[in-house]
This record gives sequence, C-alpha cells and structure tokens, in this order.
Amino acid sequence: MSQHLEELFESNRRWSAATEAREPGFFSRLLKQQTPQYLWIGCADSRVPANELVDLLPGELFVHRNVANVVAHSDLNALSVIQFAVDHLRVQHIIIVGHSNCGGVKAAMLDTRNGLVDNWLRHVKDVRRMHHGFLESLPAEYRVDALCELNVLEQARNTCYTTVVQDAWARGQEVVVHGWVYGLHNGLLDDLRMTVSGTTDVGEAYAKALAGIHRRFLGAPLAAESTQAAAAPLSPALPADSSAAPDMAEQPAG
Ligand SMILES: [Zn+2]
Repeated sequence: MSQHLEELFESNRRWSAATEAREPGFFSRLLKQQTPQYLWIGCADSRVPANELVDLLPGELFVHRNVANVVAHSDLNALSVIQFAVDHLRVQHIIIVGHSNCGGVKAAMLDTRNGLVDNWLRHVKDVRRMHHGFLESLPAEYRVDALCELNVLEQARNTCYTTVVQDAWARGQEVVVHGWVYGLHNGLLDDLRMTVSGTTDVGEAYAKALAGIHRRFLGAPLAAESTQAAAAPLSPALPADSSAAPDMAEQPAG
C-alpha cells in the first residue's frame, strides 16, 4: 500500500477514536438505525462535501452525488436513492445543491470535450438549450454560474415529477423539494427559493425561482418570466418546441 493511502487509514482511525471520545456509543447507536431528515443531491466535486458544509454527522444526511447534480428521469441510480429515502427513510426534505464554478456545468456551457462524461452532460446542455436566450443575454463571465443555478431549478423540477415524489404527495406524505446553490468562493449556501411541497406548487415555485435568477443576473426583472419566455429568444424562425433545435447547444457560447 502506498504511503498516501496508509495516511487515509491513519486519519480514519484518529477520526473514529475522536468521534467515539466526543460521543461515547456513537457508532453502536448508528449501527441500530439511520434516521436522516434530509436527502442531499449534489455534485461529485471534491470541494463540495455534503456533510461537512452543513456540519451534519453520519446518520443525519442521506447523500447522492454525481457530476453536475443531475436528476435524470431514467437514471435508476438517482431514482433508487430518492425512492429509498422517501419510502423507507421517510426524509422530509430533498435538497438539490449545485455550486458556483461547477466544472461539469462549465463544460456544458463552453462545449469543451472531456470524453464519456460529455454524454452525461447532455442533460445540462438540455438546460442550457431551454434557457438559451437568457444565457446569451448575459456577459460571458456570468453564464456558467447562471447555468449552475438554472440547472438546480431544472433538476429540482425533475425531482418533483419523479413517480416517487408524486406518489408520496398523492398519499399525503410530507416531502419538500428545495433548490440551493453553494458558493465555492465563500463556503456559503444560498436558497434559490425553489421550494415545493406538492404537485400544484411546482409551476409557481419554479416561476418565482426563475424570476429570482433573472433578477440577480440581469439586475432587473424580465418582461415575461417563464420557461417559454426564457426559451423564446432561441430564434423566431424555430417552433416553440425546443426539441426541434437540438443543435443549438452545440454552438459556442461566446
Ligand atoms: Zn460541480
């Protein structure tokens, strides 16, 4: 074993001993049950460690992470995590957490090639395409962080429309979906106010959160703040169905 990896085991032993010294019986209690109230769906980026930045202990946060915090409708991995968290752990909050200067989002925004992961990032390019007009209206240096926030909104909306969350709401189970963004530059979380506790709330929460993003990045409200309004400037010659313009996301952002 390399020296580097041995250091990890040594660190782990120190952490285990310190945790047990601070709270005797900590691990034996955890062994019996986990009762987290929160499901965190965040980016795999090593600079965004879920438990640490909200100061929660093992057992307090159920976590799923992937590149660019995507919740794709057909991703059995994310869907299984959400299903187990909602149906069995009965978490009360599902929090989608993006972060500023996200490498995955940046690659999707700037069309840089990184290999297989580019296929995964098509989900983020879909978000870019949906908000093409708004993003193009921003100075180039703001586009990545704006797309980070828009991606959180879209992934939170996807989460709301999973069968798991829809079924939970239908049977009256209390589950609230949130959209947050983490600032790499200051270590602080911001609430994008995409806060949804039922199917009928999705549209209004999404519209309000989108308006907030528009306000912050443009400095003033847009004339009409909706998904359609954001997508409309794509091209007057294109039909409203953005799937008719799949190549828009391939164009250089600058
Ligand atoms: Zn990231």
